[in-house]
Amino acid sequence: MNKKTKPVSRLTLVFILAVVLSGSILTWFSINNISNLKKITEKQVLEEQQELTSKFINGLQEQIDKVIRGFKGEISPFELLKDSLLTGSREFEFVTQAFILDEKGDFLYPYFIGVPEKLKTPKFSASFKSSFTEGEKAEFSKSDFKKAKRNYLSCLRYSSASNDSVKAINALGRISVKLKEYENAIRYYNQIISSYYREVGESGFPYVYYAVPQLIKTSNPNNCDDILIPVDFCVDKMASGEIPLNHNTEDFLQLMSNWLQKYTFNAETKILDFQKNLENIKQQLQFLNEYETDISGFIREGRENLSNVNNDFEVINSFAGNHQKLLLVNTNLNRKVGFLINGTQLFESILNTNLQANLEFDYNLEIQNGYNSNTGTQNLIYSSQLSPYFPGQMIQVKLNDENLIKDLIKRRSWIYGIAAALLMLAMLLGVVLILRDISREKRLAGLRSDFISNVTHELKTPLTSIYMYTESLSLGRIKSSNVQKEYFSIILNESERLKRMINNILEFSKMEKGKSNYQFVKSNLSECIRATVSELDYWLENENFDVSTELDNSIVAEIDKEKMKQALSNLISNAIKYSTDSKKISVRLYKNTKVNVIEIEDEGIGIAEDKLSQIFEKFYRVDQKENISGTGLGLTVVKEIIEAHNGKICVSSKLGKGTKFSINLNQ
Ligand code: ADP
Repeated sequence: MNKKTKPVSRLTLVFILAVVLSGSILTWFSINNISNLKKITEKQVLEEQQELTSKFINGLQEQIDKVIRGFKGEISPFELLKDSLLTGSREFEFVTQAFILDEKGDFLYPYFIGVPEKLKTPKFSASFKSSFTEGEKAEFSKSDFKKAKRNYLSCLRYSSASNDSVKAINALGRISVKLKEYENAIRYYNQIISSYYREVGESGFPYVYYAVPQLIKTSNPNNCDDILIPVDFCVDKMASGEIPLNHNTEDFLQLMSNWLQKYTFNAETKILDFQKNLENIKQQLQFLNEYETDISGFIREGRENLSNVNNDFEVINSFAGNHQKLLLVNTNLNRKVGFLINGTQLFESILNTNLQANLEFDYNLEIQNGYNSNTGTQNLIYSSQLSPYFPGQMIQVKLNDENLIKDLIKRRSWIYGIAAALLMLAMLLGVVLILRDISREKRLAGLRSDFISNVTHELKTPLTSIYMYTESLSLGRIKSSNVQKEYFSIILNESERLKRMINNILEFSKMEKGKSNYQFVKSNLSECIRATVSELDYWLENENFDVSTELDNSIVAEIDKEKMKQALSNLISNAIKYSTDSKKISVRLYKNTKVNVIEIEDEGIGIAEDKLSQIFEKFYRVDQKENISGTGLGLTVVKEIIEAHNGKICVSSKLGKGTKFSINLNQ
């Protein structure tokens, strides 16, 4: 056989090398990945933390933008600006207080008049003045309330403007209470509240601050709902900054709260609004108390820096406490507009949105005070400043459960590990399979080439005999008719041997092409066996074989008679061929519970146990010291024929003792 490596095997080697190389690279990457898993997962955590932070900061920006967007344009008339500011800021719960200042830094809203600056000297007519003085004298010195009332009524008649009218009405209200003419009193005070709520007395004190307490004083369970109407009107105007707040406002609010508690009112919704307004006013007072001086100072000293900031607002939180931020909106107006924002509420409103959707891990977001130089990640905690929105505050993003990522890393390591191991295994298996196939091919190629020389030799032997005996006969050298007969018989039997051999080769070739053709007919098995033995009688007798047959004559089976004979003849020929010393052959046919069994047993050279599994392979021949010739196809054909009959063939053998082939055919 040619031992030189063929190009095919070289290609195979290259292929194996490529598989091993790429497999190794993949495995190396997997192992590398496992060791990098911690880093990769931590990177993923960092990315998610950054994403969360930027989502949070975007949320802040969005909310603040929404609040300040309305005041970017020119809403010049003060009332319009204030209205829009109030409705705008009411929409957002986190806006604690909106404010407007004029260019000089004075608050226009919330509207507070502490100590009136220059009081206007009121212009009253002489007749008004004298009647009023008379009235006051009668009221306070003489307690002649009726006279006082008359004088005040004259004053009302002399009035020509709102400042004298309201002064007279206020005095009339007061005197009506003293006269216990409550209905009149209510009427007068109602008038002050509805028509003169902007008016202030000589001391700068708004008239409503007299009117409301007086109205409350006159209330009783029956008229409290009626009185609520003007009182509510007044509170509404105070909340919206049309009636100024002053140092009395707090007592005033207290008075109204007490009043609310004292009576049962029917108008429930109105009461709710009313209470909201009271709260609002309280908040305005608190706001002014805390920030008025600072904010006014800030504007007066021109410390705002709006032109320099790119944002739409400036944070002036230097004097706002933690979680409270003051924003000054960058407008084109000659007013300064701003907001006090409750950071905690704003943060919560953003945290409540679905910030963590689509994230692999679960995080905890916390707002903290102060600047932290450790901005970035430390121990899987990510921090970021909230400037410019909330300078001095930072957001910290932490994993809710660090064990989760440890678990994940462990899980992923396992998956990678198993995948890498499987890959290696598959690779090894692939290589083993390829090598096995190669060696099988090589062996087959060797067997095939042995077959050609064997078959040549096998054909040559009977042909030579036939030629020799035919030549002798044709030359007329043999005179004895007995010898002539013997020669003819030799020629006949050798021809049959040749035919059997050629039949085997033809059958094998059909088998390989899948073209074997069977014709099953019900036949008596013992007859078929006997016919086969008798075809081989010449050889059996020639070699002095002792053939014993034990055949159950009743067994009938569906078989292809010719093919079955070919198989049996191969087995008996082998028994003849591979028996050297003891020349005994037993042929048996019997019925088992389920199968019909044909056994052909000899006492020949036997087969080594490790070779038994290979004897049915095509071209396979056992190397024997006896050097018995053959093609290696006989048993291959037998197996194929038996299996085509849905049967099974097995062999048992002992080296030097003999061999038994058993055919099991289904009944
Ligand atoms: P061949 O006989 O032409 O070599 P076979 O396929 O018939 O091919 O047999 C395969 C091999 O099995 C033989 O080479 C032989 O070594 C072994 N063998 C078959 N039958 C017997 C037997 N009865 N006794 C011993 N060896 C046998």
